[in-house]
Amino acid sequence: MTQKVALVTGAARGIGLATSKLLIEQGWKVAMIDRDASELAIAAEPLEQGFPFEYDVSLPDDVDKMAEAVISTFGRIDAVVNNAGVADFRPLAETTFADWRRIMETNLDGLFLVSQATIPALKKTKGALVNIASISGLRASTLRVAYGTSKAAVIHLTKQQAAELGEFGVRANCVCPGPVRTKLAMAVHTPEIIAAYHDAIPLNRYGTESELADLITYLCSERASYVTGQVIAADGGFESTGVGLP
Ligand code: NAD
Repeated sequence: MTQKVALVTGAARGIGLATSKLLIEQGWKVAMIDRDASELAIAAEPLEQGFPFEYDVSLPDDVDKMAEAVISTFGRIDAVVNNAGVADFRPLAETTFADWRRIMETNLDGLFLVSQATIPALKKTKGALVNIASISGLRASTLRVAYGTSKAAVIHLTKQQAAELGEFGVRANCVCPGPVRTKLAMAVHTPEIIAAYHDAIPLNRYGTESELADLITYLCSERASYVTGQVIAADGGFESTGVGLP
């Protein structure tokens, strides 16, 4: 049987690395994309079916080269996990245009560019796009003006992709993680935010990278063959409570 190929962005650590490892366990080859060359090399080194590609998803030229390199190496792409992301928790009044652009360039422009560059390959395999947004894209807060807006746009872009690509057999779904103790989250979650999340989340805890990877790999797989255009929160029940984001 042909081995399936996934392309995972932001694969050097956190949710992207956990997803890459689980896909490999499930029999996939994974093109692991990240702009952090040293962390990527260390992450991919022990993974026999994990192949590091150093590219920055916010740069159009890099993304074109990335798509070419992955296709010429593997000949196909069956799933794309748009996971690379950066965070910044600030209110509108304290967000400069440079802060805004930094978030949009990776979280939104990068996702758009990687999707466009890989959709021709996904059409050939009737593959899947899995876009990683956030509960911050579902709910407004006094912080996160750029981050939350970028993630809300990812949610909408996913629905556009599902509507447009369904006739080609390509599925597009969106995962909204709740808080997970990764480098990204721990740089912006103050002790107050951590405590408030513990109280507000019905399961009273942060999620883990592997809990997110379980959902993401399901959406990549044939087991999700009739699931498209969906926005699924893996957040310990937070979104169901109606409580505001801390
Ligand atoms: P992380 O910081 O641990 O990993 C992100 C990876 O993306 C890093 O390896 C980084 O080098 C890479 N990256 C960032 N910008 C890039 C770019 N322009 N090009 C290539 N690589 C780039 O973060 P994480 O928590 O694992 O985040 C993964 C995704 O999950 C992000 O989209 C994030 O917004 C989302 N998310 C995380 C949480 C959380 O609590 N951790 C919650 C909601 C959503």
